Amino acid sequence: MEINYPKLKSTLESLGYGVTCFNTAEDATDYLDEKIRNKTVGFGGSVTLEQMGLYDRLAFNNEVFYHRRLPGGKTPRDVCNDAKDTQVYISSVNGLAQTGEIVNIDGNGNRIASILYGHEDVYFVIGKNKIAENYEQTLWRVQNIAAPKNAQRVKAKTPCAVHADKCYNCSGPNRICRTMSVMYGPPFHSNFEIILVQEELGF
Ligand code: SF4
Repeated sequence: MEINYPKLKSTLESLGYGVTCFNTAEDATDYLDEKIRNKTVGFGGSVTLEQMGLYDRLAFNNEVFYHRRLPGGKTPRDVCNDAKDTQVYISSVNGLAQTGEIVNIDGNGNRIASILYGHEDVYFVIGKNKIAENYEQTLWRVQNIAAPKNAQRVKAKTPCAVHADKCYNCSGPNRICRTMSVMYGPPFHSNFEIILVQEELGF
């Protein structure tokens, strides 16, 4: 699918997001490292951010809370609680429609909750593979690509984790898809900036 980045940028800006485009993840990492200094920063669980090495870069000049990088004596729940009260929150998303909708699915709900409320600044880093043409196709990719691949990554005992091929709409205690949010625009009272990277990042 061809992505018209100028048009996508304009669509997102018209909804109220700040938008910055980069050719590479390395350039996006440099940008965020320059921009975010002396802040408390929360991370949502994200393969994208890990591929960028963003935790180590930002931890040099900020206090960063990420539940996959636990300080001694802290549990993932402790760190998720710390991350929800930070000045800055950074995450990727599971899907972005070229019409502007942003879709996320969570198991714990910490990422969705922290994205939606409570931070001065929220950044989304989005690789080209997360972008679909419209809302319906974005929802499809979130349910049939992102969620199964995440289930496989965490070795969930779900039918989708075997081949990461599609959603089987499972039920029961092992289902990782427990919450979903659709953003039609940035919520009030926080600054949202979308960082579009013209490379594949995360899933
Ligand atoms: S609902 Fe179940 S089968 Fe579908 S993606 Fe989520 S965990 Fe996998």
